[in-house]
Amino acid sequence: MKLASRVAKIKPSETLAITAKANALKAEGRDVIGFGAGEPDFDTPANIKAAAIKAIEDGFTKYTPVGGTDELKDAIIAKLKRDNALEYKRSQVVASCGAKHTLYNLAQALFETGDEVIIPAPYWVSYPDIVILAGGQPVIVETKEKDCFKMKPEQLQAAITGRTRAVVINSPSNPTGAAYSPDELKAIADVLIDKDIIAISDDIYEKIIYADFSFANIATVEPKMKERTIVVNGVSKAYAMTGWRIGYAAGPEQIIAAINKIQSQNTSNPASISQKAAVEALNGDQEVVGLMVSEFRKRRDIIVQLLNEVDGIKCLLPEGAFYVFPNVSEIFGRSFQGKKITNSTELIDYLLDEANVATVPGAAFGSDSHIRLSYATSLKNIEEGLKRIKNAIAKLS
Ligand code: PMP
Ligand code: GLU
Repeated sequence: MKLASRVAKIKPSETLAITAKANALKAEGRDVIGFGAGEPDFDTPANIKAAAIKAIEDGFTKYTPVGGTDELKDAIIAKLKRDNALEYKRSQVVASCGAKHTLYNLAQALFETGDEVIIPAPYWVSYPDIVILAGGQPVIVETKEKDCFKMKPEQLQAAITGRTRAVVINSPSNPTGAAYSPDELKAIADVLIDKDIIAISDDIYEKIIYADFSFANIATVEPKMKERTIVVNGVSKAYAMTGWRIGYAAGPEQIIAAINKIQSQNTSNPASISQKAAVEALNGDQEVVGLMVSEFRKRRDIIVQLLNEVDGIKCLLPEGAFYVFPNVSEIFGRSFQGKKITNSTELIDYLLDEANVATVPGAAFGSDSHIRLSYATSLKNIEEGLKRIKNAIAKLS
């Protein structure tokens, strides 16, 4: 059957594919430990669930305005003011069905053939394909491990051409956990300040930060960038709400209006019940966020230590999010039963087959020398999983 050519230009999301594969193996009875899924293993907090139950009982089950209710927009506006010192009007805010949907709509609103979008690598799997689906051209800037996977201002400068439309900044980063300090962001802002380039600030891991500086985004550190910054965020990661599908954007009115127009022709509003839950997440008690982050920090410390004890693996200490992105290139060239492992995909296949451990190949994030593990899983799984990885790597010759 003939399909639109755009389908052949993109890949399925590898993070979701690996999670599905691990879950299918578990359903078959295989004792797989999953480090694939990028979602908190905690349950959605009780106050948030209660708000959703109340929404159902109150009959809040109809269409809402396309870009979300005023109540949700006001909660988003209050959050952006409280946490990020950024002020917006309702017309500058839109809620969508997850931050991925927000980014998709944004790309549809901004990019067309020939437009270049700078994406620092390692990048979250979906950025390049979201840009390609809109007809844009991803321009990948490879960050260095020695720079803790952060894009240097001179690298950004060198990647800019007359066709550059936007740059994606994701701090803390999926997959590396790198977080830009306010000074580092200011240096990036200084490159962009006199150029007609939009900063897309994906702040979805904002709350999950362990660095000795507080989270900032480019519009906060350089107020002159605010009129060309789109802040993208959501409730999935901070409030363990991945299944509820609420994300949002804040930025220039014209861009938000364009997103609304596009959204009115695809999903309409995000689920009314999820909107009520998101209002409670943003306005309610935030203590639970701190509890989750302190648990993630313990797991980070242990997983990094255990990874660095494996022969051939080197892992930096991430400053945020819940991923580690160890360098595994020393393992390449080793063999199992005569079969050589030469890249990250072959390594993760070997780990799944031989160690019953699901991880994601770095190639999916633009770096074949690495693999990604999500430590949004129990300490018990982390310890057992790393024991399995260590044993499986020791079997290679
Ligand atoms: N941005 C990044 C960097 C992510 O890791 C994710 C996780 N899926 C998203 C955006 C989208 O999150 P969601 O659609 O669940 O809001
Ligand atoms: N962001 C998560 C991850 O990277 C969830 C899956 C996805 O949306 O890609 O694993």
